[in-house]
Amino acid sequence: MVRKNRATLLAANCLLVLAFSTHADETTEFCLDGAFDLGARYQGLRPKAGEFYPTSWCVITEGDTGRVMFSGSGKSNPDMDGDWTVAYLPPDLVRIVNRTSPDVEFHGAEIDDEIARIRRMDPRQLAAEIESGDGNIEGLEVTRTGDRIARVSASADMPLRGQVDVDWLWDWAEPDTPSLKIVVDDEEFFRGTGRWRMLDSIEAAAIWERTAGEAPVEVDGDRWPSVINMRLIELEDGVYLVRGVRTGFQHLVVDTSKGLVAGDAPAGWVEFHHLPPADLVPGLGNDGLSRRFIEFLGETFPGRRIHAVALTHAHDDHSGGATAFADSGALVFAPAELTGFFDDAFDIQTIPVKEDTIIGSGDNRVRLMPMGPGPHADSMLGVWAVDKGWFFVSDVHVPNSDTAVPRANRAITECWFAAWAVANLPEDVRVVNSHSAPQTPVSRLADYLASEACSK
Ligand SMILES: [Zn+2]
Repeated sequence: MVRKNRATLLAANCLLVLAFSTHADETTEFCLDGAFDLGARYQGLRPKAGEFYPTSWCVITEGDTGRVMFSGSGKSNPDMDGDWTVAYLPPDLVRIVNRTSPDVEFHGAEIDDEIARIRRMDPRQLAAEIESGDGNIEGLEVTRTGDRIARVSASADMPLRGQVDVDWLWDWAEPDTPSLKIVVDDEEFFRGTGRWRMLDSIEAAAIWERTAGEAPVEVDGDRWPSVINMRLIELEDGVYLVRGVRTGFQHLVVDTSKGLVAGDAPAGWVEFHHLPPADLVPGLGNDGLSRRFIEFLGETFPGRRIHAVALTHAHDDHSGGATAFADSGALVFAPAELTGFFDDAFDIQTIPVKEDTIIGSGDNRVRLMPMGPGPHADSMLGVWAVDKGWFFVSDVHVPNSDTAVPRANRAITECWFAAWAVANLPEDVRVVNSHSAPQTPVSRLADYLASEACSK
């Protein structure tokens, strides 16, 4: 990555801010309240459009400093309510505002482009930016009616879909509460209504304060927004986790008699509230993350070929890199209900897993296990290093700690998985997952089932 000169950036940023703030000292909040189609983004229960969930996106813009705060609430998955707030404080500080736990601060991050992309969510800010410049914004085609934004066209590189058109269509029949449709790849992704609010000076000053209490967790700025930092963790002879495939992603690799078997083909993640939409792992395209994962395996296990990858479910961040594995010569296994969808999406032939399927022979076999429909997705696979006692799942078990009760905000899914695991796995098997570090013995999942959260 090319490092720009900070002083130049800072100066350019200040000019930009002064130039397109209509009132330089005002702090304005713009919110979009509506519904987002997780199905169209391939994060729903089934990989098809039409699964809308309530969603709000808000951006607070401060005129004279260029500070911006984004808050989102809604679902990132069918079973995961979420709300998150990120403050961007030029020149180079990003703060994840946690409110009930210490904030996380990234110092020295390159945030100018991201600030601009988020601010454009507010159509008045976008109009002002166009007024103040030469009318061109890279990656955007903007149509105006008078001084109002009517349409913004861009494109995005989506796992499982490739390059798609993205259109923001504004309707100003109610000028103070304009309505918006975001259409992606000819499907409605988001529909909602905008509203503005001015913050008074006391509220405006307070929002940029750190969460009171414990000091923030400090992180180096080049880890924002996501970083690839792969390293091998040996769980047992021949059974590994590759940690840091990207921030918050780790994947099982088992060295079987047939070759390496991996759990999941990870892909990037497009942020659709950005204009233009941006990938969280920039510059890697659709299956670039899985290509890097495959390269890492090649360097780490010289001479061992990748025999297969098992796609645990249809969500794009777990399966979007399948073509990289297919191109490397690996077999691609998937839940039987999803092979038609994957074969169309990727133009490859996936192997349906209808029932428990063994890969390899000898003392380090893998058993792929269909888990049936659950609250996270209608079809799931688990990957069991059956001779060594390790089991890998994605997204249905993501504990924060080693406690004997499930996470409160994901109890339905955690209890569902605990019941499945207790019914299907020996109690000394340890469960690892794609997003968190704890290793959970099945006996602890039995404790989950006895907890109040799982008896409801
Ligand atoms: Zn998922």
